[in-house]
Amino acid sequence: MILTLKANIAKKQIKEIEDKVKELGFSPEVSQGKEKTLILVKGENAILTREVFEAFDSVDFITPISEPYKLVSKKWKEKTVIDAGGVRIGTDRIVLMAGPCSVENLGSTMNIAAAVKEAGAVVLRGGAFKPRTSPYSFQGLGEEGLKILREISEETGLKIITEAMNSEQAQLVEKYADIIQIGARNMQNFELLKSCGKARKPVLLKRGFSNTIKEFLMSAEYIAAEGNNDIILCERGIRTFSDYTRFTLDISAVPVLKSLTHLPVVVDPSHPAGKRDLVEPLALAAVAAGADGLLIEVHMDPQKASSDGAQTLYPDQFSRLVEKASKIAGVLGRKI
Ligand code: PEP
Ligand code: MN
Repeated sequence: MILTLKANIAKKQIKEIEDKVKELGFSPEVSQGKEKTLILVKGENAILTREVFEAFDSVDFITPISEPYKLVSKKWKEKTVIDAGGVRIGTDRIVLMAGPCSVENLGSTMNIAAAVKEAGAVVLRGGAFKPRTSPYSFQGLGEEGLKILREISEETGLKIITEAMNSEQAQLVEKYADIIQIGARNMQNFELLKSCGKARKPVLLKRGFSNTIKEFLMSAEYIAAEGNNDIILCERGIRTFSDYTRFTLDISAVPVLKSLTHLPVVVDPSHPAGKRDLVEPLALAAVAAGADGLLIEVHMDPQKASSDGAQTLYPDQFSRLVEKASKIAGVLGRKI
């Protein structure tokens, strides 16, 4: 439940309410805007204490939040703009994040970085810890890969996004990268979510391929509940009966999420496509649906990529995609 306080309320009165919330066994979260002060009362069945707060003169009105997610709800906050090392996500500018599925070595990743930067990307993606279906597939370079990404960032100015699969890796990724990626397979790895909630870097949370929108938002709530509100949601395709593509991109997730949460929403068109020819139309659809960014796999020579080569774009395909996406963004009053 959200308590909206009357205008020009004194600090002492805010403190009084906070104390009462704590006394009742709930935890308060205060948002002090220019015009109004809101207090979120977090905890199961908080709404049952409504009458207690109705008795406070300083409380103007009370808004129940029926959804189980609170901090990420649009009822709590209108909009979040995230600052990832200077790159702002959630503004009119659609943010392009691109790069290889896996970091392979310094030289090849540097070449890809230069190519995607030239085409308009501002964030370099690349996995150092890879969640592979087979234990015999390339598992990533580990910390060595993170060092490569950092070096490229220093050289090119591109910001870095890379995945962590457990809490220990999350600490390493936090040290080297600008955005910590939580992959689809770990969307409900609650211990990882909690660790990322304690991190001081933004987190990009991918939707699990068998997870509902509500579960997705509850996972984001786990991160927020630990104190990290810099969360970017990423739709990357779900499992359906349709098996021609690798996954089915749930394009409706973009407007649905935007109606439910204040967090920015980006789309990864590469993983649902599974084939590079399908990446562009999915990316354009994502921009048309209102995505705040795109996360796309690009490689100088996708046929030699260590992972996900079939869905990985050549740099010239990526450039053409960006040109078209810019036009669609323009129609919507946005830019790339
Ligand atoms: C990736 O980004 O390379 C990746 C493994 O993505 P996902 O978690 O969406 O499968
Ligand atoms: Mn991949």
